[in-house]
Amino acid sequence: MNRSARVRVLNERIAQKAAEHRFVSRVPLLCECDEPECRETFLIGLDDYHQVAASGGVLTVPGHRVDGAATGFQNGDYWVQHRQGKGNGDTRSFG
Ligand SMILES: [Zn+2]
Repeated sequence: MNRSARVRVLNERIAQKAAEHRFVSRVPLLCECDEPECRETFLIGLDDYHQVAASGGVLTVPGHRVDGAATGFQNGDYWVQHRQGKGNGDTRSFG
């Protein structure tokens, strides 16, 4: 599993907790970039987060890189990046 996939698991948990507590505003999620030491967070609305997650996008703070990814949507809080050459999920892992 690559870093962004591992961080996504954590972010899913945060988003789920926020929903349980009816956290209607934006939630702080962890940057999903490829930098192993990155501990930065960004704010995103839950609806926006679920939309990006469903589209297979990787969420980072502005300026952080995901290898081989093209940056799509950007705003002052976060960037949405899409890895090239494969679909959703990380199905081509050979362990
Ligand atoms: Zn980062």
